[in-house]
Amino acid sequence: MAKTGGKGLSLARRLYTSRTLGLALGLLCVSAAMYSLNPSPWVWGLMVINGVLWPHLAYQWARRSKVPYHAEHRNLLVDAFLGGFWVAAMQFNPLPTATTISMMAMNNVAIGGMRFLLAGSAAQILGIGVGLVIFTPAFIPQTSPLQLYACLPLLTLYPLALGWICFRQAHTLGRHKRELLALSRTDSLTGLLNHGTWKDQLEIEFQRCQRQEQGGAIALIDIDHFKTINDTYGHVAGDIVLRQLSKMLKQNLRTADVAGRYGGDEFCVILPDLPLHNAAVVMDALRDRFATLGYEQNPALKVSLSIGLAAFDPAHTDATLWLNDADQALYEAKTTGRNRVICGGADKPRRELLDSV
Ligand code: GH3
Ligand code: MG
Repeated sequence: MAKTGGKGLSLARRLYTSRTLGLALGLLCVSAAMYSLNPSPWVWGLMVINGVLWPHLAYQWARRSKVPYHAEHRNLLVDAFLGGFWVAAMQFNPLPTATTISMMAMNNVAIGGMRFLLAGSAAQILGIGVGLVIFTPAFIPQTSPLQLYACLPLLTLYPLALGWICFRQAHTLGRHKRELLALSRTDSLTGLLNHGTWKDQLEIEFQRCQRQEQGGAIALIDIDHFKTINDTYGHVAGDIVLRQLSKMLKQNLRTADVAGRYGGDEFCVILPDLPLHNAAVVMDALRDRFATLGYEQNPALKVSLSIGLAAFDPAHTDATLWLNDADQALYEAKTTGRNRVICGGADKPRRELLDSV
């Protein structure tokens, strides 16, 4: 219900602007056509109510209703009905009639598409019917120059205003779409790429390495004994450690490097165009810096990292095998004592063990 209210209220606000302008200009167009027919005072009164008061009443009505979205649909049908009513009252004077009908059709299509165009047309026909009952059915075949000039503001200004409103709406939607896309690709705790997006990037990097016959490396980073950290210092402290590691990754990697959170306490990095040895130096410096980091809230807290590295191997048929190499290297780092960087993959026989506890 709240969702419908929000959507309806923003629709009501948009329609308030366009309705106020459209009906004020419409009043000029209709009153010029009606003037020559010498209508009774109540008709003039109704014209003024419709042209000046109705936009404000419609807005307040929609704002105060439980579901403003539905209220606005009803208001639009009232607009269409009254449009039809004035068409019959003007005795189908060609230009004011065409102007009224086409502006309303444009409005209805812009707001509710084909479905609303049809509903609006039905309400318009009903309005014409009621108009024919109240006023003398007749047809005026010619539009006078004065009536023509009175239609011009509506014909020129209203499409401009509606176009502007639609453009602004499309612009806002585009921005929201970009924001949602960025959110769907990001891990909310750390701000790094999430698992799925990082794997997409890995696939792209794998194909680039294959195409350009270039090397690169990937690293899987896992926090040692993280469960114990959670159990000893609490999950809030655990979250601080995770954020600290992601901050360090953002600060210490090159702009071309792609860091992500693989899941839980495991992180992943793509290091394009970096030989395995250099990647190992970078990762070992990171491991070293992270191990000596102090935590204000928990001075006794010390955290170490195990890192598995793998170079791109042209013999691999897909990116999963590359990731598997890094995973095995990480496994070896864990089983040989933790707090170390192990290189796997293409250099497997000459596996480097850069650091140990
Ligand atoms: P190892 O040295 O073998 O990696 O041991 P470990 O305790 O780090 O490994 P394990 O996979 O058993 O524990 C990972 C823990 O990370 C378990 C889970 O509760 C915790 N965890 C996962 N996601 C989060 C999170 O977002 N915040 C916090 N605080 N903890 C998390
Ligand atoms: Mg761990």
